[in-house]
Amino acid sequence: MNIQDSELNFLTLWAEIMQVLIIALLVISVLSVVIYWIRYNSKKSMKAKFDLASASEIKVLRFSQFMIAVAIFCLVNIQQEEIVIRTPFPWFIIRAFMGVCFGTLYGYIAHLIFTYYYPGKIRARLDKLRYTPRINPKTGNKMKLLSEEEEDVYLDEGMQAEENVFSVDYDVWIDEASGDTHIEKYKGHLNAHECDNCGFQTLRLIKEEVAEEATEFWDGSVNQEYNCSYCGRVKRKTIALTFKVKENASDTARLISNPLANNKEVEAVKIEIFSNKGDTKMFNFQNVEQAQKFLEEFDFEKIED
Ligand SMILES: [Zn+2]
Repeated sequence: MNIQDSELNFLTLWAEIMQVLIIALLVISVLSVVIYWIRYNSKKSMKAKFDLASASEIKVLRFSQFMIAVAIFCLVNIQQEEIVIRTPFPWFIIRAFMGVCFGTLYGYIAHLIFTYYYPGKIRARLDKLRYTPRINPKTGNKMKLLSEEEEDVYLDEGMQAEENVFSVDYDVWIDEASGDTHIEKYKGHLNAHECDNCGFQTLRLIKEEVAEEATEFWDGSVNQEYNCSYCGRVKRKTIALTFKVKENASDTARLISNPLANNKEVEAVKIEIFSNKGDTKMFNFQNVEQAQKFLEEFDFEKIED
């Protein structure tokens, strides 16, 4: 008799906890999206909106859906209470297992959406934020975005060096009437480290050799040499090489020679790269030279996520 009472108490307590959790999780889920939405809309410039959306939007939405997935687990765990009260074992466990299944299913579908579908959708909006003509605050004139060839005059050498290794992409807007310019900085297609000498993102790995092979028992080591394409700084670093990692590290690139060189009719070049792990990456360029330089720099390890 006593045992049954304590079981019943436990089931009641469990149901209460689940109900509180469901409400709390739904509130957190909605609140995270609302807070993000307020932050997004309080940003004044399109550039600030772009930066916030590209850094956080998918993370926030993913988090809010994860909260719902856990709420679904809780919701399943207050279903069919009479059956569970009649025979707590094994029904309590079966119900919890069902909760895990439904919660995981929901979470997995949300994960797929935010990995494969949503990035394309947000990309279109980000492009709009980035390429909508800026207004010169001093004159009220619409500004014009300069092309890659035209913009170099307005970028200093360090900025140009960053663009040449595709680590940073600068947009230069010009007010043609007054000559005022406005420069915006965006992440480029490839990663480069910030140089500790000149401060530009132009420090790249140029040489990598295994100094000591890893064994099953010991870490090996790799000597890396970085070079800054702007100030010429050379930096050497030794990192641990753990057993098994490092398959086909950096020999992915050097893809094509030069099918389109100097073709003046080319207006844009789109490069789509497929890895043997099933990822695809798409890159857009304004001209053949840029696309070509990009392919020379390209390496799967340098790709932005
Ligand atoms: Zn440097």
